[in-house]
Formats: sequence, structure tokens, C-alpha cells
Amino acid sequence: MEMEKGTAMKQQLGQNLIRAKGLAKTYREGVTELRALEGVDLEVRAGELALLMGPSGSGKTTLLSILGCILRASGGKLEILGKDVGALEENELSRIRREAIGFVFQGFNLFPTLTAAENVALALDLRGVRGAAAQTHAEALLAEVGLAEKARSFPADLSGGQKQRVAIARALAGDPPILLADEPTAALNSVSGRTVIQLLQRLAHEQDRAVVIVTHDPRVLPFGDRIIHLEDGRILREEGNRAGVLREPALLDLPPAGASLSREFSI
Ligand code: ADP
Ligand code: MG
Repeated sequence: MEMEKGTAMKQQLGQNLIRAKGLAKTYREGVTELRALEGVDLEVRAGELALLMGPSGSGKTTLLSILGCILRASGGKLEILGKDVGALEENELSRIRREAIGFVFQGFNLFPTLTAAENVALALDLRGVRGAAAQTHAEALLAEVGLAEKARSFPADLSGGQKQRVAIARALAGDPPILLADEPTAALNSVSGRTVIQLLQRLAHEQDRAVVIVTHDPRVLPFGDRIIHLEDGRILREEGNRAGVLREPALLDLPPAGASLSREFSI
């Protein structure tokens, strides 16, 4: 699998990268059924930072996992870069996970015995980038998140915010058009939390990625373009923070979702 910059999937500003319609998820444990999601409609465009908020148990992680193709919906339709993922085989899904989606978790999930650069290089290895090329690319990704000088540091020697930035660099390994983060600032102090949310915002606004963040953290609210409120597995309401680039008249007349992407993204 080739994974060079420029050959990865490319997105256009304002293009719908995520399109969910009527998403449902029922968990079954023995005879009991738990309806975690019921009829969620959601579209997220390239260049947007969307915040997903809601009380514990409202279905945020379930929704993020479905959007990230690590969990299958029980109902409804999900398109990622114009691809109907419900129809895909497991190997095609894993390709989408590898090439279209980057994940960031609350707990960082770094390997303690590997340096920052090695943690990032591991994600490159999964994408076929190895040796000196991986080393150079890992250092470039760390520079991207402002951690060039920490490439040889171990996680234990990094602050929480720095660890989360390493995790973001790792999530960028496949140059994914979509970044998904579950409570990325929850474990961070206010200065680190701010650095991390500003970084995620920049990855949306300057690199045209679709960034979806599950959060309880009121400190990040001002950074979201959209704030989507989930409760009992449904979207209750949505607020917008800015009359941003995506609402420019010129961008309202967009090609259908996936129109230009599907050409490059042929499975
Ligand atoms: P949130 O992230 O908003 O706290 P979750 O998506 O984790 O919500 O959970 C939504 C509901 O689904 C909760 O009632 C939770 O207990 C249930 N749930 C989540 N994951 C599972 C699972 N793997 N098996 C059974 N029930 C689950
Ligand atoms: Mg959760």
C-alpha cells in the first residue's frame, strides 16, 4: 500500500466527507436490548470542526465509533467520502479506517517503551512506510504538532498536552481527511487543553479536514464551528459558532458528496 503525501485521498473545502442518515445502534446482551442511537442524521464537511456534546450514556462514543467505521450501525446509512460503508466488506472498511480516518483518544494510548517518533512511526509502518522514510515522516508529523524537539522523548517525559499532540501526529499518519477525537482534552489542564483544541481547529480550518470531537469540556466550545447536542441517542439541537468559510455563498453550490473523491478513492 502506497502512502505518500499527495497520493492519499484528497478533499475539497466544504465537501461532505461524512453523511449519516437515520443511524441506529442497538446493543444486545442476552435478551436485553439497549438502543444507544436512534435516527441520527449528521453531515460533516471538509474544513469543519464539529463538537458532539451530551450527557454520559447519550451515545457519543457509539456515534463516533460508527463514524470511524470501528463499529457497524444496526440501521440507517453512512457514507464516508461518498462510499456507502454499510455495503463494504471488512477489508474495505479497514482500508477506510487506515486511509480516511484518524483517531484520537482521551487516554492518548501511546506505547510507553517507544519514543514519540517511534509511536508515530508505528502508525506509518501499518501504512507501509518504513525505515528512514518513516523516521523522516514521523519527525515531520511531530513538527506539524509543534513537537519537533520532542521526537526522542518517551511518553513519561512529556506533559499530558504533549502526549496528546503525539497522539494527534500519529492520527495524521495516513493524512486522513477525517479526524475523530473522543474527549481529547478531558485529561488536560487549561493551557494544554487550549493548545490541543487550537491544533485540532487548525487541522480543520487550514488543512480542510473534517474534525469531529466528542467533548464534555466547556473550554473547547468557542472553538467549534458547530455544536451538536446528543441526548438519549438522538440529536436534540445544533448551534453554530461562526458564519465561517463554509457558509460563503460560493460554497453552497457544491458538487454532490464524494463527486471528486470517489475517483481517487476507488476500492
Ligand atoms: P457516551 O459516550 O455518550 O457516554 P456511549 O455511546 O458510550 O455513550 O453509550 C451509549 C449507551 O450504550 C449507554 O447506555 C451504554 O451503557 C451503552 N453501551 C455502550 N457500549 C456498549 C456495549 N459495547 N454493549 C452494551 N451497551 C453499550
Ligand atoms: Mg463516551
